Amino acid sequence: MISMSKNKPILVIGAGISGCTIAERYANILGKKVLIIEERENIGGNCFDYFNKDGILVPKYGPHFFHTNDEDVWNYLSNFIEWKPYEHRVLSFVEGKMVPIPVNIDTINKIFNAKLSNSREAKAWLKKNVEVINRPKNSEEAAVSRVGRILYEKMFKNYTKKQWNMLPSELDPEIMNRIPVRTNFDDRYFTDKYQAMPEGGYSKLFENMLSNKRIIKKFNFNFFDSDINLKNYEKIFFTGPIDKFFNYSQGKLQYRSLKFIHTTLKKCFFQERAQINYPGNQKFTRITEPKHATGQKSKKTTIIKEYPTWVGSPFYPVINKNNLSKYEKYAKKAAELRKDGIYLVGRLAEYRYLNMDDAFKNALNLFNRLNKKQLKTNQEHVLQ
Ligand code: UDP
Repeated sequence: MISMSKNKPILVIGAGISGCTIAERYANILGKKVLIIEERENIGGNCFDYFNKDGILVPKYGPHFFHTNDEDVWNYLSNFIEWKPYEHRVLSFVEGKMVPIPVNIDTINKIFNAKLSNSREAKAWLKKNVEVINRPKNSEEAAVSRVGRILYEKMFKNYTKKQWNMLPSELDPEIMNRIPVRTNFDDRYFTDKYQAMPEGGYSKLFENMLSNKRIIKKFNFNFFDSDINLKNYEKIFFTGPIDKFFNYSQGKLQYRSLKFIHTTLKKCFFQERAQINYPGNQKFTRITEPKHATGQKSKKTTIIKEYPTWVGSPFYPVINKNNLSKYEKYAKKAAELRKDGIYLVGRLAEYRYLNMDDAFKNALNLFNRLNKKQLKTNQEHVLQ
């Protein structure tokens, strides 16, 4: 058992959403010294962005569009950054036509040359076209029961095959259920109350979160190759892949990765929206154009093509029965470590397909849970 000396610092492994949140809370709320180590050269995990040589703010590991309904998360992040309102809208390039995704009335009208004009007609259309499946067992069943087989074939089947290298029938229903179906003309990708981009970029947000001098940051620092002595820390938070932490003792968990090809063009904009999806035979899944979201003014623009792959950094946990049953075994081992002050937290450590706001919330909840007593005492102290 690691000594729980309160004078020892906190060790955080990984400087992504979960790691930065935990480090920030321990330093700013409890006045702890924190060492945060990161194997990459940059902050913010997959949210990291930077100004490229043409001066365009671009994400290194794929686009991130912030959205949340959670007041706590919104207020928490607003301590560190100004926001620039941005509502994400996505088009899908289906057989030569640009149609809104999520499926809405315009999507149906454009693809089927229909003339639906209101929610009642859209609901009737869906009722006629969907297959009734009470409890979808996989993502194919989830899709055909929500949009019908034709839209599934045109917009979801091949895109998912490219994204996951698996047919939707091999994936749990949750993956397809992430995308809503609309019986109105709303073409926003998300309907959350708060939708915005951090002014100046995500990296700035994370740098501001870690600005406390009590936080020591080390980049290009690989925990597994290091001789860090865990006994020197009051608590340890690991935010990397859980299977790697346990040296793959229960077998490897699958993660899907992405390769990004950036191209800068001498024109203000390349495409109509920040994101266009390609469910057809192209090898890439989508093209994103950050300027639409960041609002940056420039005579140039950078576009990013995404090619799904198995090699490279772990991006998406592959949620299916096989991986989840392996994960359960790791999760049991992780639970045993809590008594030693070691916690596995976040998308990779908990093998969950978390949206950004859920990842912040998850880390905040862990911090609040672990420090309930201390936070209550602090609160009482402030009130006296
Ligand atoms: N998807 C699809 N067609 C699309 C967009 C998404 O089939 O045009 C499927 C695909 O399997 C994807 C899942 O829906 O992985 C969830 O989409 P989301 O946009 O949430 O993916 P993310 O932005 O997290 O990559």
